[in-house]
Amino acid sequence: MTAKMKGLAKRSVLRTCLGCRESKEKTVLIRLGLLPDGRLYADLEGKLSGRGAYVCPKQACIERALQKKRLEQAFRQPIQAVDLEQFLTHLRARKRERIASLLGLAQRAGQLVSGHARLTQALERGEVFFLLLAEDIAPEREAEYIRLCSLHQIVWQKLFTKTELGACIGKEVRSAVGITGVRMAQNVATCFPVIIP
Ligand SMILES: [Zn+2]
Repeated sequence: MTAKMKGLAKRSVLRTCLGCRESKEKTVLIRLGLLPDGRLYADLEGKLSGRGAYVCPKQACIERALQKKRLEQAFRQPIQAVDLEQFLTHLRARKRERIASLLGLAQRAGQLVSGHARLTQALERGEVFFLLLAEDIAPEREAEYIRLCSLHQIVWQKLFTKTELGACIGKEVRSAVGITGVRMAQNVATCFPVIIP
C-alpha cells in the first residue's frame, strides 16, 4: 500500500484468525459465513447474516481454520468437513466476482479510467490510486504501465483477460483500468493477493 493510501486507513477493528489465532485488522482477514444449507462461504462483502469467523488470506491459516472442530466451535453447530482445495477454488472465484463487481461500481461512480490515452494521462497526473492490468496485456504496454506506476508509487496487480476486464466495466477489451477513487482503490487492493501460499 502506498503512503497516499495508508493515510486514509480506517480506524482499526480487530478480529481473530481462526487458523493462527492472532488478532488482526478485520479488513485484512477473510470473513467466513455459512449459507442457509450449511455450506461454508467466503463472505467477502460481509453481508451474510448470522455467525461469522475470520481467517488470514494464507493457505496455512485456511488449512487450519477448515478443521471440522475449529469450524464447529466458531459456528457453534455441526459442520460437514470442508476440503481445502475445494474451498480455495471457491475463494478464488469469490475474489474474482468481488473485484469484478467493484470495478463495475467504480466505473458507474466515475472513479475508473480506461483506454490507453486517457489512462496514461491520468497516471502521469497522479490521479490513479490502483491499476489493474489484464493477464494477457502486451509485454511492451505492461512495461510502460509498470514504469508509470513505480514513478508515481501506484499499486498495481494483474487479473482477468482483456476481454473479461472489459466486460467488468461494460466495455470492449481493456488491457488495463485505473481506479481514481481512494476508498474504491483500497477496497479493490485489499482483495489481493488472492492467496498467499
Ligand atoms: Zn492467521
